[in-house]
Amino acid sequence: MLFKKKSFERQVILKKDALDGIISYCKMKHPNEGILILKGKSKQGKIMVDGLVIPPFDHSGPTFAGFPHSFLPFDMSYVGTVHSHPSGSAEPSPTDLLNFFGLVSLIIKSPYDDGDIFAWDSKGNQIKLLIE
Ligand SMILES: [Zn+2]
Repeated sequence: MLFKKKSFERQVILKKDALDGIISYCKMKHPNEGILILKGKSKQGKIMVDGLVIPPFDHSGPTFAGFPHSFLPFDMSYVGTVHSHPSGSAEPSPTDLLNFFGLVSLIIKSPYDDGDIFAWDSKGNQIKLLIE
């Protein structure tokens, strides 16, 4: 049996294809918020995101995008969500933290360029994000 290390440096690895999908979806939703489910896997503190799912009950508006978690099918490949902030701030709001789903919350702010996306944990701490 392998020994478990106490802590790993957490990081999120986002596939370029997934980032491009997020960017075009959020640009299309602007000036409303857009929200997508992140698919991927998590291993030893690393969260790899390689796919996107449009939530089945998307009710986005200008200030909050969300969906009822209870309607989501149980799927271990769901690692978190991404949503847009048309206001131009990438900080998670108190509502975002209350509605936290999965392991990571990505927030992309207007104008939705490659450098406008940030990763957060359920406590609102920033996680290192790599695009590959
Ligand atoms: Zn938000």
